[in-house]
Amino acid sequence: MSEHITTVAGVAVDTRHWIGGERVASAATFTDVSPIDGSVLGEIARGTAAEAAAAVAAAREAFPAWAATPREERARILHAIADGVERRLEELAVVETADNGALLRSHRRGVMPRVAHNFRFFADWLLRLDHEDFDTRGHTNHVSWDPAGPCVLITPWNAPLMLATWKVAPALAAGDTVVLKPAEWSPLTASLLADIAAEAGLPAGVLNVVQGYGSEIGDALTSNPDVRRISFTGSVPTARHIAASAAANLTPLSLELGGKSPLLVFADADLDLAVDLAVEQYDNAGQVCLAATRILVEETVAEEFTRRFVDRASDLRQGDPRDEATDIGPTIHPRQLEKIDGFVQRAVAAGARAVIGGHRRDGRYFAPTLLTDVAQDSEIVQEEVFGPVLTLQTFGDEDEAVRLANDTRFGLAATLATGDPERARRVTGQLVAGTVWVNCFFVRDLQAPFGGSRHSGVGREGGTWSFDFYCDLKNTVTSPKGWKDHG
Ligand code: NAD
Repeated sequence: MSEHITTVAGVAVDTRHWIGGERVASAATFTDVSPIDGSVLGEIARGTAAEAAAAVAAAREAFPAWAATPREERARILHAIADGVERRLEELAVVETADNGALLRSHRRGVMPRVAHNFRFFADWLLRLDHEDFDTRGHTNHVSWDPAGPCVLITPWNAPLMLATWKVAPALAAGDTVVLKPAEWSPLTASLLADIAAEAGLPAGVLNVVQGYGSEIGDALTSNPDVRRISFTGSVPTARHIAASAAANLTPLSLELGGKSPLLVFADADLDLAVDLAVEQYDNAGQVCLAATRILVEETVAEEFTRRFVDRASDLRQGDPRDEATDIGPTIHPRQLEKIDGFVQRAVAAGARAVIGGHRRDGRYFAPTLLTDVAQDSEIVQEEVFGPVLTLQTFGDEDEAVRLANDTRFGLAATLATGDPERARRVTGQLVAGTVWVNCFFVRDLQAPFGGSRHSGVGREGGTWSFDFYCDLKNTVTSPKGWKDHG
C-alpha cells in the first residue's frame, strides 16, 4: 500500500491533497491524532502557498465547463455523491469518530445521513430556483443566478464533514468550483469526500481538497484574486484575519462564527422539558457553536430547576464515543482541554461555584460542568468556552431575561422554554439571534436561513440564501422594442 494511505478503523484514507483530479503530496506532513486514545491516525500533507495556488488554479480551469453544465446534470451528479455517501456511511462514521471523537451513534444516525441530505437538498433546490419575471413600463425584468467562480471553503473540526458539505453542496449546485480546506484536527473525511465525488463523476478540478495548518496554507487561499467567494466556519479571531486577507480583492465572505447563546427558562415552562433542553447542551462534549451555554432561569423556579437538572445530568455517561451507551465523548485536543480548564479555573477563582463538574477526568475528558454565582460581565458569561461548561443565572422578570440574553457580543441562537405563546412571541421579537428555538433545540431545516448576528457571523446561508451567496445575481431588462423579424 502507498505510504500516503493510512488505515483508520479499517478504512483506507489518502493523506494527500486532491487537486485537479489528482493526489498531490506535500514536502512536509503533520500528525493527526485520535482524541479517543491519543493514537496516531496518519501523517497528513502539510500544505503550503504553492499547493493553495495550484488548487485555486485547478478550480479556475474547471470553472467554465462546470458553470456551463446544465442544472439537471449538476443535480444528477450531486445526487450520485449523496448515493456514494450513503453507500460508505459506516466508513465515514467510524473515521469521523476516530478523528474528532464525537459519538459514533450520532455519526451513524444523524450526521452522515445529513451529509447525504446536504447534497440531495441543494440539488433539488437548484432545480426549483427561479424568480418570477416582472414588468417595468412594458420592459421585462429577468433575474438569473449565475455561477460566481472558484470558492474557498474553510471549516472547523467540531462537525467536519457535515459543515464542509453544508458549503460544498450549494457551491457545486450553483455551478461554482471549490477548494475545501478542512481543519487540521479533523482532516480525514474530507479526503474520503474527494474519492466519493470522483466516483460519482464530478469532473476533475471542480472539487479540490487541501490539507494544512491555518494561515500556513490559508492566507494564500483567502488572498488569491481568482477566488470569487470565501465561506468560513470557525472562530472570531480567524474570521478577522480572513476578512483582512480577503479585503485586498473585495472577495465576498460568508462567516459562521462562535456563540454564547442563552436558554431562557420561564416559570410557566414545562420544567422537565426545560431540563431536557439544558442537558442537551452537553452534546458533542459542548463543542457546538449553537449550544445554549448560558442558562437563564426565572428566580421562582431556579431551585427546583437546578435540582432536576443535577438529577438528570448525573445520568450522563462520559467515555469512549464508539460505545453506544456513551452520552459525552472526549474533547478534541489537549490544547482545547487546557483552554476549557483555564476558563473554569478562572471562573471559580472569581467566585463561581461548580454545582456539578468543574474538573478534568482521565485522558481528554472534561466533566460536564454547571457554574452558578457568575457575574454578567465575567469572562465565563461573555466568552465562548467550546466545552461541556454551562453557567446558570436567574432573572426576576421578562425584561431582565431579555436584557441578560442579549448582553454579549454574540447573536447566533437562543432557546426559550415557556408555556405561554404570547410570551414566546414577545420575547422572540426582542432577541438578537440568527435562530430562535421555542420549547425545542437543534431542529434544522436546510431551507431556513442560517447564520449569526453581531460577532456570530456575517450573512446567511440555507435554501435560496445559499444560492444568493454562491451566485452572481443578474437582472436582465428587455425592452419590447427593437426586435428584428428573424422568422
Ligand atoms: P478556527 O477559527 O481555529 O479554525 C477554523 C478553520 O480555519 C480551520 O480549518 C483552520 O485551519 C482555519 N484557519 C485558521 N487560520 C486560518 C487563516 N489565517 N486563514 C485561513 N484559514 C485559517 O476554529 P476551530 O477552533 O476549528 O472551530 C471552533 C470555532 O468554530 C468555534 O468558535 C465555533 O463556535 C465555531 N463554529 C461555528 C459554527 C457556525 O455555524 N456558526 C459551526 C461550528 C463551529
